[in-house]
Amino acid sequence: TDGAASGKDRKYLPDFGLSSASAARVYDALLGGKDNFEADRNAAEVIEAHLPHSREAAALNRAALIRGVQYMARVAGVDQFLDIGCGLPTMKNTHDAAQEIIPGARVMYVDNDPMVLSHGRALLADNRTTTVITADLRDPKYILGHPRVSAFLDFDRPIGLLVVGMMMHLHDSEKPNEILAELMRPMCPGSHLFITTWPDTGHPAQHALSRACLETLGTGWLRSLDEVYDHFFGMELVPPGLEYLSRWYPEDPDGPDVMPFEEFEPYHWPLMAGIARKSS
Ligand code: SAM
Repeated sequence: TDGAASGKDRKYLPDFGLSSASAARVYDALLGGKDNFEADRNAAEVIEAHLPHSREAAALNRAALIRGVQYMARVAGVDQFLDIGCGLPTMKNTHDAAQEIIPGARVMYVDNDPMVLSHGRALLADNRTTTVITADLRDPKYILGHPRVSAFLDFDRPIGLLVVGMMMHLHDSEKPNEILAELMRPMCPGSHLFITTWPDTGHPAQHALSRACLETLGTGWLRSLDEVYDHFFGMELVPPGLEYLSRWYPEDPDGPDVMPFEEFEPYHWPLMAGIARKSS
C-alpha cells in the first residue's frame, strides 16, 4: 500500500527520538500543529525567544511553498512533484495545492523523519496520486533508485523538485549542490527546482534564527546570496528570481502583494525563495 515501509525504507527507520526535538515536529509546533511533543514545543519557544514572530516566519514559508506549487502547476503545467523534506502533513499540502489546479497531479513525498511516514500514511491512505517514503536528501542515489519513485514519477515529463525549508539543514561538507545536481540530472527539460532557504545578507534576524536552530536542532546554517544561487547550479530562475518570501510572488512578480522593504519586520528577513527551470 502507499506509504508502507518497504524493506529498503527500514534502513531509515530509527526510533522516533521523542526526547529530543526534531525539525519536522518543531516546524509543526511553530505552524500551530498538534504532531509535536514537549521537547519540540520547548525548542519552538527557544526559537521564538531568539527571533520573535518565528511562528509567522514559518507560516510565510508554508504560504510560499503553496505559491511555488501553484506557479509550477498553473504557469509551467507541471503535474508531478518530488517534495523532499516535505514535513508533517499540515492544513494545506503540496498535493492539495497542485490538485486544485490539475486534479490528477501526482506528489511523491520524501522526508527522513519516520514520523512523517506514519502520519503521511494515515493521511494519504486512499490517495492514488500521492505517496510517501522515508529517505534522506543526502542519499540522492537511494531516492532516484527507489522502486516507488521510478514507478510513480515519469522522468520523460517535467517534474517539480521541491527542497523547501531544507537546505539550511545540510552542512557544506555534505556537498548540497552536488546532491541537487544529481537529483535534477535525470529530469527532462521543463523540470523545475524550487528552494526556500536562509540567506545571510547581514540582517541580525537571520543570525538569531540560525543560532536558535543550531542550539535546539544542531542544524541551521546561513549561506551568502552567492552560495544560495549556487544551489541552482546555473539554471535560470523564473521571475522574480531569488527573493525574500514576502516579495516572492512568481505568478505576479510585480503585483500588489509584494511587500515594500519599508514594511519589513525582523521576521521577514530570514527566508528567501527561488524557482529555476531546467532548459536543456
Ligand atoms: N518542506 C516543508 C515546508 O517547507 O513547509 C517542511 C520544512 S521543515 C522546516 C524541514 C523538513 O526537512 C523536516 O520535515 C525534516 O524532517 C526534513 N529534513 C531535514 N533534513 C533532511 C534530510 N537530510 N533528508 C530528508 N528530509 C530532511
